[in-house]
Amino acid sequence: MSTGLWSEDKTGGNGMYKHGLAGKNILSVAQFNREQLEEILRLSHDMATTVARFGAVQPLHGKVLANLFYEPSTRTSSSFIAAMQRLGGTVIPINNVQFSSVAKGESLRDTVRTLAAYADIIVLRHPETGAANTAASALERYEFRIPIINAGDGIGEHPTQALLDLMTIKEERGSVDGLHIAMVGDLKNGRTVHSLSQLLALYEDIHFTLVSPESLRMPSATVAFLNEHNCGIKETDSLDGVLEEAGVLYDTRVQKERFGDPAAYEELKLSYVIDQATMKRASDTMVLMHPFPRVGEIAYEVDDDPRAAYFRQMRNGMYVRMALLAGVLGKV
Ligand code: ASP
Repeated sequence: MSTGLWSEDKTGGNGMYKHGLAGKNILSVAQFNREQLEEILRLSHDMATTVARFGAVQPLHGKVLANLFYEPSTRTSSSFIAAMQRLGGTVIPINNVQFSSVAKGESLRDTVRTLAAYADIIVLRHPETGAANTAASALERYEFRIPIINAGDGIGEHPTQALLDLMTIKEERGSVDGLHIAMVGDLKNGRTVHSLSQLLALYEDIHFTLVSPESLRMPSATVAFLNEHNCGIKETDSLDGVLEEAGVLYDTRVQKERFGDPAAYEELKLSYVIDQATMKRASDTMVLMHPFPRVGEIAYEVDDDPRAAYFRQMRNGMYVRMALLAGVLGKV
């Protein structure tokens, strides 16, 4: 058990973790190997200890984060702000791009170059897949180049969510190896399951049960990737038999904003509802996770069940984002 960020040196004497984040962009989970993941989880755990002890600390004093969100967000946006503030930094929050020059037609390239002239790091959420890479390219040879963190790019990826999900699995279960995870809901459009499944594939002996309506199945490229990494995979449209066996049930909402046809969304939105009766069928040790927001797929009555980990999962988001900000800005 760690005793805090600065009180115990687990880093080989130079005080730095081996996460390799300093000065890097965080664009995709594909950039991480297992050793780096372990280091990020360790650092995130130390951030949790640090917050419990001190509330806030000052390693990022004088640093500025530009938080640029072109899509709605509650948890990702506010946990990045809280993370920066708990590390002593400050934030330029742009949550309503309609009140920025984006509304006048400014390009993503010009917007991120502008923010890079003022800030030390950018967190970007955008509706288009690949937008974070586009923004990173715009900064690559720029005189005020700063790192960029992908906070969700359309149906593409959500790497920081995947890291906080991984932390939650580790903290709730004690280990990740040997996991049987059931991913449930909109596996086609949900970027969190795309990123998390790729990270889990780096661990040993991982089994996936992918539960979705036929039209919302996990993309075949992701399934192929999991196969290449020797993961066990079962695809089904029913929760029958899944609850009894899964160590983690990772539930997701049907992604309304990705549907062209509102009637198709209405038909699918409550394909699976987790309530007390459902939880009775699950094992006593199953961990129930959800990236939130939930829009009816988990009943409120489940919240007091100790297996419901989604509020702890949210809290972990702040710790992981503290670790990423401090790591990328070269302070740990
Ligand atoms: N908050 C998560 C995301 O931004 C999950 C969701 O929106 O359903 O992808």
